[in-house]
Amino acid sequence: MIGAMIDPFGRPISYLRVSVTDRCDFRCVYCMAEDMTFLPKADVLSLEELDRLCSAFVALGVRKLRLTGGEPLVRRNIVGLIRSLGRHIASGQLDELTLTTNGSQLARYAGDLAAAGMRRINVSVDTLDPDKFATITRWGKLDQVMAGLAAAKSAGLKIKINAVALKGVNDGEFDRMIQWCGDEGFDLTIIEVMPMGEIGTDRIEQYLPLSLVRAKLQERWTLEDIDYRTGGPARYVRIKETGGRLGFITPLTHNFCESCNRVRLTCTGTLYMCLGQDDAADLREPLRASESDGPLMATIHEAIGRKPKGHDFVIDRRRGGPAVERHMSVTGG
Ligand code: SAM
Ligand code: SF4
Repeated sequence: MIGAMIDPFGRPISYLRVSVTDRCDFRCVYCMAEDMTFLPKADVLSLEELDRLCSAFVALGVRKLRLTGGEPLVRRNIVGLIRSLGRHIASGQLDELTLTTNGSQLARYAGDLAAAGMRRINVSVDTLDPDKFATITRWGKLDQVMAGLAAAKSAGLKIKINAVALKGVNDGEFDRMIQWCGDEGFDLTIIEVMPMGEIGTDRIEQYLPLSLVRAKLQERWTLEDIDYRTGGPARYVRIKETGGRLGFITPLTHNFCESCNRVRLTCTGTLYMCLGQDDAADLREPLRASESDGPLMATIHEAIGRKPKGHDFVIDRRRGGPAVERHMSVTGG
């Protein structure tokens, strides 16, 4: 290895999340405005360039790689990239290659993902009510996602459902989702909405602290603390009644930055050292300037040397606008 990445606070960086496209076939109300402007295609890295970048990070000690977006499965020939990155799993340099998806294209691709070496995927489902699903995602269809989940399950992929907690929208549904995940053998993670990007509505209207969700769940379910970790920020409990795992991602009520092990790459090759801060490094320039990975790796090391201690997310009435201007679909959730 050519010098592992350790940030100024002594945190080793072993997890890279890559947004392979900022485009999406949904327009979830908490993630995007309805009339989004996307990056010009010319600015977006080719799949070969993304492969080279990811592989440089693997050489620098990344053990877990997550492809996200936008919707990663709407990028043309994304399966080719996944298959190619699978070589790092086969060589033992990478522990995990995984994906976060809205599930709309899974029926088509689940078999390919499993064949490429993926073992687990995250699928975002905020509600089990088809009408609410259509309202939240604006363009999505729940039955299509359900068909995708069935295909992923039969391809042998382990599935974690991500649900963003939205006040007055899905807060009455978590019991049902817990039961459904328990029956299907899926893990479930509930996420606090984060103030990222202008979405045309007020965040305070959407924000539901997970401390409230958890207190409500405890009236019905037995939540047993477990020390299961996936290398991500979720804190897990086991639901005694279903045997399933339930995670909570609470960037606002509990800061999880002290154990942060990750950085994020956009589809244009911009490296963000923190989801909640604006400082970034351009990797496209050193990537394109030289066939050798030397300048690229030097830029990466320099960027890791600036990784901030943590984010400053707050959602309150005084702050008003988003904490960062970029949408989640740019940096990749
Ligand atoms: N399109 C894929 C999906 O929906 O799973 C991958 C990208 S999406 C940006 C990744 C995750 O971020 C999803 O689980 C989504 O619900 C979540 N997300 C998007 N915007 C968010 C926000 N403002 N706060 C919290 N989570 C958000
Ligand atoms: Fe698309 Fe995922 Fe954002 Fe929804 S959350 S708009 S599916 S990128």
